[in-house]
Order: sequence, then structure tokens, then C-alpha cells
Amino acid sequence: MSDVQAAAPRGKKVRPPPRAVVVEAVERVTPGVMRVVFGGPELATFAAPKAGAHIKILFVPPGKVWPTGDPALDAVRPPSRTYTPRRFDAAKGLLEVEFVLHGEGIAARWAAQAKVGEKMLIGGPGGGYEPPEGVEKMVIIADDSAVPAVGMVLEALPKGCPTHILCEVANPGEARALSPGIASNPVWLYRDPVSAAPGVLLEAAVAALPPQPANTWFWVACEAASMRRIREILVAKLGVERGRVHTRGYWKAGDANYPDHDYGAD
Ligand SMILES: Cc1cc2nc3c(=O)[nH]c(=O)nc-3n(C[C@H](O)[C@H](O)[C@H](O)COP(=O)(O)OP(=O)(O)OC[C@H]3O[C@@H](n4cnc5c(N)ncnc54)[C@H](O)[C@@H]3O)c2cc1C
Repeated sequence: MSDVQAAAPRGKKVRPPPRAVVVEAVERVTPGVMRVVFGGPELATFAAPKAGAHIKILFVPPGKVWPTGDPALDAVRPPSRTYTPRRFDAAKGLLEVEFVLHGEGIAARWAAQAKVGEKMLIGGPGGGYEPPEGVEKMVIIADDSAVPAVGMVLEALPKGCPTHILCEVANPGEARALSPGIASNPVWLYRDPVSAAPGVLLEAAVAALPPQPANTWFWVACEAASMRRIREILVAKLGVERGRVHTRGYWKAGDANYPDHDYGAD
């Protein structure tokens, strides 16, 4: 057991300290998405993330130092937000993260003006999704925040596994290739032209799905309230077995820093 674990109160999960990283590149992927590439020697031990895994990006307030080395001061972590480690190039030690520039929010604001050379802290990776054994078809349902994770899920599926992908984004300018290596043909749903609230178009598209083959699995990630309604449509209306539906709320309208562990199973 490491020193850190030994010091932990009984039963309490101890997070390893975050890694210091540096911004190596910033690239606008679409008008509403910024890709930030992190590097630095502390990524040498970053574990290859599973599909849909998450990292924590810490935002140390300007003018503050954290960690300070003083355990009492360091017990309070700076604010953090949850993101998808979209691509990790272990050979180069580079980690790509794609931020939706949704407006207000410490992370969205930071990403909109991120600069090469900036020092940041990253926790994780943790969690993630493993496609079930013998999956014959995967239905993927996601909003903008989960488009990076959709790419990872596609890359984790058995080669040639049929998919049906519904992606809701703001407008046609936000549609893009989901994975550079896997061809896919997502159905893009655009909120802006019809002033749709987040998730509404996804919900309608899910309700209109034709019956799916028996061995079909569902991966859903989007705004949390909508995620619950989609789960309900799948299970109660379309009769999908609960166990075949993986759902996760990625953010919640009106809530800052929504918890990262809302699987909608309540
Ligand atoms: C496992 C996981 C992986 C995720 N991966 C990604 C990712 O790769 N890229 C990504 O962009 N997001 C991702 N998210 C979502 C991201 O964590 C949230 O959007 C987060 O709230 C952003 O923090 P913020 O500081 O910008 O906004 P916050 O301070 O958390 O929120 C401020 C306000 O903005 C609203 N808001 C938050 N997110 C959105 C949004 N996407 N669209 C519209 N309004 C929003 C909130 O409801 C709130 O009113 C992921 C979430 C999870 C749980």
C-alpha cells in the first residue's frame, strides 16, 4: 500500500494527485468546439483510457498556487470539471481534449482562450465503458458534450459492428467526423434552426426508432434530464431490456459542475 493510501481514512477512496501538464496546441475543431492538446513528462504514466472514460481538469484561480505542499491548504482542491480524454498518444505523451464552448462556465471560458504553454493540472483517467461481449449492434445517442466520447466508443467496438448514431448539436457547422479511423454515418440533429431545448430532438428521434435486433445495446450520454427521459423511452416505450442501456448525464441545464457519476439508474 502506498503512503497516500495508508493515510486515508478507512473506507474513503483516495485520489492520486493530479498531473502537471502543459498546453502544447490549441485548435478550433468547429465554431463551437476547441481541441486542447496537453503534454508534459507527467503524462508518461497516464493509463490508456477506456472508451467514455473521464479526466478531471483543475482550474487553479489566477494568482493562487496549488498544491502548496502544505497538507492543510492542499486539502481543498481547486474547482474542477469533467472531460473526455479523447485521444492519448502514448508514444508522444500527448492528450487531446475537446471542449464545447457553451458560454458560461469556468471550463468553457478557459478553453475559449487557452494558450500554448499554459500550465494545468489533470486528474484521472477513470471509469469508462467496455462494449459487451458479443455485441451485434450498438445504438449511440449523444449531444455535443459527448461527441468526443462517441468517437472513443466507435473505436472500441468490434470491427464492422453495425451502429445507429444520433448526435444532437447546435447547428450544421458542428457536424464533424466522429473518428479519423472509423467510418460512420451519424444522424445529425440541429437545435438552432428550430430553437429546440437541449435533448428534445434526441428524445423525439429515439421515440421514432424502429424495432432493433435482439442483441442491440444502447449507449447514451447527454444533458442529465434528457438522458432520464431517453432511458424511459427506451425501456418503457420501446421495451428495451434495462441491462442493455448504458446512460450517463454529462451536464445538467442550470447546474454548474454537475456530478460526474449520474448513470440515471434511479
Ligand atoms: C464523463 C463525462 C465526460 C465529459 N466529456 C466532455 C467533453 O469531452 N467535452 C465537453 O465539452 N464536455 C464534456 N463533459 C461535460 C462537461 O463536464 C460539462 O459541460 C461541464 O459542466 C462544463 O463545465 P463548465 O465549467 O464549462 O460549465 P459549468 O460551470 O459546469 O456550468 C455553467 C452553466 O453552463 C451550463 N452547461 C454546462 N455544460 C453545458 C453544455 N455542454 N452545453 C450547454 N450548457 C452547458 C450549466 O448547466 C450551467 O448552467 C463531460 C461530462 C462527463 C460526466
